[in-house]
Amino acid sequence: MAQYDQNLLSDMLPIYYTRLFPQNIFCRWLGCGSHPQPLAHRELSFTLADDVYLRYLSISNQKELQTLLQKKCPHKLDIGAVYNTRPSIARHGSVVLSRELVFDIDLTDYDEVRTCCQEAKVCDKCWKFMVIACEIIDVALKDDFGFQSILWVFSGRRGVHCWVSDYEARTLDSPGRGAVADYLCLIMGGDNQSKKVHLGSDNLHTSIRRALNVIDKYFVDILQDQEFFANPDGLKKLLALIPDEAFKSLVEKTLEKMPDSSVERFKALTNIFESHCRENGIFSRKFKYLIEEIKIQYCYPRLDVNVTKGFNHLLKSPFSIHPKTGKVSVAFKPNNAKNMNLDEIPTIYTLLDDSAAENAKHQANMRTAVKVFQEVVFSLEKTEALRRKSENNKSLEF
Ligand SMILES: [Zn+2]
Repeated sequence: MAQYDQNLLSDMLPIYYTRLFPQNIFCRWLGCGSHPQPLAHRELSFTLADDVYLRYLSISNQKELQTLLQKKCPHKLDIGAVYNTRPSIARHGSVVLSRELVFDIDLTDYDEVRTCCQEAKVCDKCWKFMVIACEIIDVALKDDFGFQSILWVFSGRRGVHCWVSDYEARTLDSPGRGAVADYLCLIMGGDNQSKKVHLGSDNLHTSIRRALNVIDKYFVDILQDQEFFANPDGLKKLLALIPDEAFKSLVEKTLEKMPDSSVERFKALTNIFESHCRENGIFSRKFKYLIEEIKIQYCYPRLDVNVTKGFNHLLKSPFSIHPKTGKVSVAFKPNNAKNMNLDEIPTIYTLLDDSAAENAKHQANMRTAVKVFQEVVFSLEKTEALRRKSENNKSLEF
C-alpha cells in the first residue's frame, strides 16, 4: 500500500465527512437509540488535531452535525450517553438516562496468547481471534438475551466494537450491564495468574458448549498459525494450566519428546488426558473440563469489561477515522468477519485518492459497510416503532 502522510488528514477529513461519512443514517441510528429523549440529549465528543479533546457536544439534526464536523474537523469522533438534558447546557446537573450496551474487544488483550504479533500490530492470523469473538458474542446476545439490534464495527486498528441498541439494552442500569459482562466473561485474573478459566465439574452451560463449538471450528487453524506450544516457553505456559502435579509431569515428559507441532502436541495431551481419566475416577471428576478450559483460555473472547459496565464510557463512532492508521471504522456482519482482509479495509487516503491502486476495491467495501449499517438502523427503526405503538396502546388502556 502507498504511504500516506498523516498531516494530510486535516485537509481530507472535511471532504470525507461531507462525501463519505453516512451522516443521515448515523443521525437516524443515534436518534432512534436516544428515544424517548431527543437526539440533542446525546453526548458526542471530538478529538481534534493536536489531541485537543472536546466533550459534551450535541446536535439536533443532520444539518447541525454537518456544520459541527466542518467547523471542528475532528480527527476522531466518539459517542457517549443520553442525558436528561442537552449535555452541553447542564453538564454538572445532568443525569445519564441511557446508552447502548457496548463491547470492546482488542487484540492487545490477547498478547499473552498470540505469538504472531504484539501490542499495536495485527495480522490476518491474529484476526482469527476476532472472528471467534464476534461469532460467540453475537449468538450469545441474540439467543441468551434476545437482543436484535446489534451493530459490529471495526475499531480502526486491532479490534472490534459491538453496539446493542435494543431498548432493554440501552436502559440497563450499571448492575445489569455488569451482569451481562460477567456472564460473557470466562477468562478471569490478571497477569500473575496462569490458569484463568475454571469451569467446575457440573454440566456445562449451553452458552459455554456453544462457544466451544465455535472455537472448535477454528482451533486447528489457530494452533497451526500461532504454534502456542511449539517452543519451551509456550510449553511451560501450557503446563502451568494443569493443576494436578502427577498428570502435569506425565504430560511434560510426553510432549517434550514429541515434534514441535502444536496440533500434534495438543492431540497428544487430549489422548493422555482421556486415558488418565479412564484410570482415575477422582481425577476425571475433579478436572472434567481441563481440555475445554485450555481451549477457552487460548481462544475465548477477551472483553474489556469496564467498557461494557460503564454507563458513560465514550466509544469511537462507527465510520470515524483512526487517526494513526487512516482506516475507517467500518460496520460489518459478524458472520462475515472471517472474510475480512485487513488490507481491504478502506482508509481515508485510498478512498479520496482516485489514483490509488486500492481505490475501487476500497470504495466498494465502503459501500458494503454503509449498507450493513443501514440494515441495522432500518431494523432498529421498525422495532422501535412497534415498541412505541404497543406502549401507546398500553397507556390508552388506562
Ligand atoms: Zn498477528
